[in-house]
Amino acid sequence: MASKYQAPRGTFDVLPGDARARRRIEATASAIFERAGYEPIATPAFEDTELFERGVGRSTDIVRKEMFTFEDKGGRSITLRPEGTAPICRAYVEHGMHKLAQPVKLSYAGPFFRHERPQAGRYRQFHQLGVEAIGTDSPLADAEAIVLLSDLLTELGVPGVELRIANLGSPGSRRAYLEELKAHLRAHETKLSKDVRERIEINPLRAFDADDEGTRGVMANAPTIVERLEGEDAEHFAEVRTLLEAAGIDFEIDPTLVRGIDYYTRTIFSFVCDELGAQSEVGGGGRYDGLIEQLGGPPTPAVGWAAGIERILLALGEAEEETGRDAFIAVADPGRQREALVLAIELRHAGLTAEVDLAGRGLKGQLKHADRLGARRVLILEPEGSAQLRDMQSGEQRQIDPVDLVEAIGGERS
Ligand code: AMP
Repeated sequence: MASKYQAPRGTFDVLPGDARARRRIEATASAIFERAGYEPIATPAFEDTELFERGVGRSTDIVRKEMFTFEDKGGRSITLRPEGTAPICRAYVEHGMHKLAQPVKLSYAGPFFRHERPQAGRYRQFHQLGVEAIGTDSPLADAEAIVLLSDLLTELGVPGVELRIANLGSPGSRRAYLEELKAHLRAHETKLSKDVRERIEINPLRAFDADDEGTRGVMANAPTIVERLEGEDAEHFAEVRTLLEAAGIDFEIDPTLVRGIDYYTRTIFSFVCDELGAQSEVGGGGRYDGLIEQLGGPPTPAVGWAAGIERILLALGEAEEETGRDAFIAVADPGRQREALVLAIELRHAGLTAEVDLAGRGLKGQLKHADRLGARRVLILEPEGSAQLRDMQSGEQRQIDPVDLVEAIGGERS
């Protein structure tokens, strides 16, 4: 039956096959985060709009075009969170986390919202998981964070992944470079796209990200910040690269790398996957040493990343297989339905997967359903108190006392 209602444009329902795969991704990530001491945190799905205007940056596409912003009933401007770092920094400041032992290492997963043009790998509600290490400027933290994402993608088996890294310098050292870049853009202004031209003064770095031919031609000869790095910025970048090499992580320095968010300083990185087509990034992030202070906290350096769960799923390319059931309890005698449910509950309490018929099927229908569910054993409760345990693969069947069921099924499973 076709419904009159559909999931809104750019959103989707997560159906069970997909949900299983997502659960595996989240469980794998949680285990990796836990082993490295990144504690879970969750923030609300919406925040005051100003948090993102200040945090993400007024000149970014996210803030200019992509936020789901509305007024609540009290006249306050609210925005569905387009990203997770600004909210976590808000929470860090709000809860005085700078008083804890530093750095504070956090991890998260959840839905995010951007009003983008929907296409494969780009949605209006999508899911990210990520980490933040707040309160350290050590290159060790950059390397640790990058290795976490590399480990996650490796452990999940995401194919064809490449890591690109760059360094944006710090705001002071970047100033001279940005002037040089603006001069280059102005000198070739007529060849640039309208969007890039309008942002020469406010966000010249974004020109590296443009996909129109004119701008790309101009950017091919543009000066890059990586070539201009010096002093502590250059040392930091060199140390991150040395650490990645020591950890056995392959990477490429990409001087044209930029990110769509203003808060980044020094390290930025991006994991791309060639299986993904146009939306090729699975995850990325970088250092944001000025953000916490900008949000009213003490000067606090930090680094983090986010990965897109849908992009990982697309790259993996398949839904997770059903795992079947350890047992199905069927009844040949409808008078034994209660007993069947109680036995299934007992099996579940013993950590096994078990189901009973909830639809009033006859025995034949129940066996067919058990087969459909992938049940490995079926217990058939017969009239007069007897019971048969059937192995669905071999078809072998034997009499059993239901009291021994947990042992029989648990034992046979291992
Ligand atoms: P960002 O927060 O823009 O740095 O993006 C981090 C990651 O989130 C990207 O590498 C993507 O995997 C994912 N992502 C960002 N925007 C979207 C979107 N609209 N739909 C699906 N995934 C997204």
